[in-house]
Amino acid sequence: MQGLIEFFKSLPKKKCQKCGHDIFEKADCYGNVCDECDHPAR
Ligand SMILES: [Zn+2]
Repeated sequence: MQGLIEFFKSLPKKKCQKCGHDIFEKADCYGNVCDECDHPAR
């Protein structure tokens, strides 16, 4: 398990282009915005 955590830690963190929050485990299809900013109702 530890190896898996280290693997994710080593991944470059994506930041939301709108609010600057870190984007966690999002698929690439989300682009560069977090869930909040990517909400269709906003
Ligand atoms: Zn955001």
